Amino acid sequence: MAKCNFCGNKNLVFKNAEYIYKHEEHFMLFENVPCEECTFCGERYYEAKTLKKIERDFFDVLHQKRQPLKKIEMPVEIYAA
Ligand SMILES: [Zn+2]
Repeated sequence: MAKCNFCGNKNLVFKNAEYIYKHEEHFMLFENVPCEECTFCGERYYEAKTLKKIERDFFDVLHQKRQPLKKIEMPVEIYAA
């Protein structure tokens, strides 16, 4: 990634971040996901192979082919101003 597609900033840094995969009403949180992050707007870029692996792991867990590391509860609220 040479520059940010959103803001045009050329400073992108490698880091490991959290990623939430959503499919219909199912969510899965991935920790420690390698990405490049724009130092200006914070947009994150992931490699195609990283997203493929996340997708594969998500469906393995969804179809109970394997257990996730752990499960967490997440409070839900509808935003009302
Ligand atoms: Zn940016």
